[in-house]
Amino acid sequence: MFYGKKTMQSENIRFFNTLTREKERFVPIEKGHVKMYTCGPTVYDFVHIGNLRAFLFEDLLRRWLEYRGYTVTQIMNLTDVDDRTIKASRSQGVPLRQHTERFVRGFFEDIEALNIEKATQYPRATEHIPEMVALVKKLLDGGYAYKGEDGSIYFDISKFKDYGSLAKIKVEELKPGARVKVDDYTKEEASDFVLWKAWDENDGDIFWETELGKGRPGWHIECSAMSMKYLGETFDIHCGGVDNLFPHHENERAQSESVTGRKFVNYWLHNEHLLVEGRRMAKRLGNYYILKDLVAKGHESMAIRYLMISTHYRQQINFTFDGLEGAQKALERLRNFALRSLEADGKSADQRLRGLIEGVEKLFGEAMDDDLNISVALAHLFDFVRDVNNFLDEGKVSKEDGQEIHDLMMKFDKALGVIGEVKTERELSQVAEDLIHKREEARKARDWKTADQIREQLKSMGVLIEDTAEGIRWKLEKK
Ligand SMILES: [Zn+2]
Repeated sequence: MFYGKKTMQSENIRFFNTLTREKERFVPIEKGHVKMYTCGPTVYDFVHIGNLRAFLFEDLLRRWLEYRGYTVTQIMNLTDVDDRTIKASRSQGVPLRQHTERFVRGFFEDIEALNIEKATQYPRATEHIPEMVALVKKLLDGGYAYKGEDGSIYFDISKFKDYGSLAKIKVEELKPGARVKVDDYTKEEASDFVLWKAWDENDGDIFWETELGKGRPGWHIECSAMSMKYLGETFDIHCGGVDNLFPHHENERAQSESVTGRKFVNYWLHNEHLLVEGRRMAKRLGNYYILKDLVAKGHESMAIRYLMISTHYRQQINFTFDGLEGAQKALERLRNFALRSLEADGKSADQRLRGLIEGVEKLFGEAMDDDLNISVALAHLFDFVRDVNNFLDEGKVSKEDGQEIHDLMMKFDKALGVIGEVKTERELSQVAEDLIHKREEARKARDWKTADQIREQLKSMGVLIEDTAEGIRWKLEKK
């Protein structure tokens, strides 16, 4: 039986902090406890795979902190009122809540399918209006905000000396008095931004009657209010995609620090973009995907997870179907290896095995501690798989060692979340069962192409399918 060394909180974790543009040693405010805020989905539509990349990076980050023994409090907001949600619900003639509810459900289905750990809480913007109003009032009282002639309330960026330092933009170039009312805009337009939007007819029946007047919050103040409510005035980590860096995170920081006079966030972590077949993803280019599109094409959601997490978060991912196939193969290799280890019953034991086991745990850990260097961590892991497979082929892995190796793989999988449980009885996995079922449906619908694709996919998982007069029969390929 394997009794793993109790994992200690690592003093060696280092993250690249966007604020300083340097790798820094990670030290949480409270010993053993990490508080992190991750910007959640704007629920006006289904999240696309670029959004999912951010959520998967954040999941890997959180799992790694937990692997190292930290308790993590993670808050992810749901943006259920902003320019886009209002526009989408009104253009479809559906009440806002009804419109966003559909996409909130879709979001939770996606994160479950991708084995993303649930955040501690998912606060909704519409349920935190009083907290936002209180922040805006403090900003008005402190002279950081003013009311425009349209009745909306704006943040005066000239009052926050450090404005622009997170996204590294120069403020001297700003036109005095320039202001913007929309939630999202580009760097070139950096200017006073809206905190509270006075109602106009484009908002329809979406408004709150508050001390600030009839209106609704701007997008940026939503995240300041919800993060500080649940995590305190200063917390450890704030994440998001690079597209959120400006204006969203710059503005969040300016508002929050102006209210509290304290540092808002110690470590800012941003993940890079996702490209599809080398291009920016766009509906008009026909390369825009949501998770359900890929699953409908017969791809396993765990392969999508593997593909997304196996590229370092600060590198762009070029999503391709070849890459997805490669991810599926890598995943199968890990699964088969975990299973083979569990079934090992070698007569002799190779002394070198001990060194390999201790070596991989150390090297994998060191790589992940280094700003989640997943590429290096996986390279060490696959070296280990190759070496131990050779010993397995030669019958040099005892039952005890096999169990220990399997348990180590399960420990790594607490961070990776891709292998799942393996069974020695060589039963069909749930994934294979679902695929067989899906293939039957496809055959009933005379969709031979999909049926063939699924047959191939099952084959790559070691499950052989035979269609007989009595129905389908499956057997497991001998590995
Ligand atoms: Zn946010």
